[in-house]
Amino acid sequence: MCAIGNNPIIAIKSARVGEFNGKNIGTTTRSIVLVDPDIEEAHALKAWFKKEGSTVASTSLTTRSPFGHQQETITIADIYSMDSLEKPTFFQLKDTITKIGMDRFYYISFPSIVGGKKCMKKLIPQNTGMWFCPKCNAEVSDCDYRYLLKIDIQDHIGELASTVAFEDVGSTILGNNAKDFYLLSSNPELIKEFVSRALSTNHIFTLSVKTETFKEVPRLKCVIIKE
Ligand SMILES: [Zn+2]
Repeated sequence: MCAIGNNPIIAIKSARVGEFNGKNIGTTTRSIVLVDPDIEEAHALKAWFKKEGSTVASTSLTTRSPFGHQQETITIADIYSMDSLEKPTFFQLKDTITKIGMDRFYYISFPSIVGGKKCMKKLIPQNTGMWFCPKCNAEVSDCDYRYLLKIDIQDHIGELASTVAFEDVGSTILGNNAKDFYLLSSNPELIKEFVSRALSTNHIFTLSVKTETFKEVPRLKCVIIKE
């Protein structure tokens, strides 16, 4: 209706207002939807729209979210052809895993809950055999292991090397958490088996892509934030 220039007033009684990724409006079985209702408010709104409303820039109440369903699905070739991305930007990609680097697949993090949240900062080993967290400003004797995986992926037209995956995505892909894998370190054959099971599997990844400058050379940092 908007496309043919009618710009009707839509009135909804008992609309459902959602808060996911900003505001959105939906209907339920109890909702009543009226097009151009003959009520005072609708006439006033239409008069405003004719006079000035149609030329006013609109503000979207919906925001893009890394976990929403509004990411564009793109190809790896699209990523390479992008201009510099100053802020992390989220995209969806249909791809296949071609390589999982297991040389340094984890980092050491804080084991306990701090302020209701698990602190995920990288710990610094101390001479005393303890671990220090710069964020919590605390030393601990115990530590946790979290994935810091480098994964190569490909789609039907391109390849993307060294995308990063952290604990949640890594556990989903490998079917085991980083600590379990660390404890398996003495059994490289078993690790190989897990990795080879994950290779050539197809996924729809949500990627966070940002341009970073390393030794004055801009390069893309791609993190898989959702599998
Ligand atoms: Zn911490």
